[in-house]
Amino acid sequence: MSKTIFGPVNSRRFGKSLGVDLSPGTKQCNFDCLYCELEPAKTLASQSSVVPLKSLVSDIQEALESHKNIDVLTITANGEPTLYPYLDELIEEINKFKGNTKTLILSNGSTIADPVVQKALLKFDSVKLSLDCATAKCFKKLDRPESSIDLEQIKEGMLAFKKIYSGNLLIEILFVKDLNDNEQEVAKLNEFLLQLQPTRVDIGTIDRPPAYKISPVSYEKLHQLSFGFDSSLHIAIATKAPTSLEKFDYTKEEILNTLARRPLTQSDIEALFSKEAQKHFQELLSCGKIVKQDSSGVLFYKVA
Ligand code: SF4
Repeated sequence: MSKTIFGPVNSRRFGKSLGVDLSPGTKQCNFDCLYCELEPAKTLASQSSVVPLKSLVSDIQEALESHKNIDVLTITANGEPTLYPYLDELIEEINKFKGNTKTLILSNGSTIADPVVQKALLKFDSVKLSLDCATAKCFKKLDRPESSIDLEQIKEGMLAFKKIYSGNLLIEILFVKDLNDNEQEVAKLNEFLLQLQPTRVDIGTIDRPPAYKISPVSYEKLHQLSFGFDSSLHIAIATKAPTSLEKFDYTKEEILNTLARRPLTQSDIEALFSKEAQKHFQELLSCGKIVKQDSSGVLFYKVA
């Protein structure tokens, strides 16, 4: 198979996903994040090595023909996929033959203020953008962007894009120990996300060896940070809970109080609730005191 295509992999959130790499040969990114899983590399404002559109389209078409029933085609890159100069043409072509397969792009969010990029992203079913920091100091330290990139412009671009986009806008925040895992940064992120109103916010931490010497936050810390966000936001913890995690014997009242502070996902419930608490939870669900809501493939439970 072509090196631009990887997978398919089964994901709990998106189903059977086939990946497309828009920079298969080398890392081409306008960030140099401390947590990147790729080698550290000089930041670039544009791609210098470009895969021809024609070959990319035929690779994708072939892959969709040989792998039946792909739920989602995930556009990504060794670096930043929106730096691909023919992104708009590419998604136009994909939309002609993708059938029932959904499209998703994973971007670091850096180019979202660019109308040309917005025009292309509007054609995806789901757009996932990273936003690790809401303040410039934190952003520069953690994501190490190319010198021309401005965080305020990114935030304005996200707000402008949200106004015109009718698909699923997902935000991803990656927390790193002693960098963005503090209350002040979370408060600023929360303030911005309340304005943005994304479909869902995935929070996680480093789970593969990073490019630089930094440390992940614990699952418990992620859980604690999740309560720093407003209960109207759908916050999903994307990092897997350790099996050693202590489980809690929540009473029905405690379950309702917790859900009022933050809607929980199925994974949260499995990770945090004791058997007894899960029984209480099921009873509250059956009598309608708790309701469930799907947020782009993730089920959230909240107080009715
Ligand atoms: S945006 Fe992604 S590819 Fe680019 S440096 Fe950060 S983690 Fe690596």
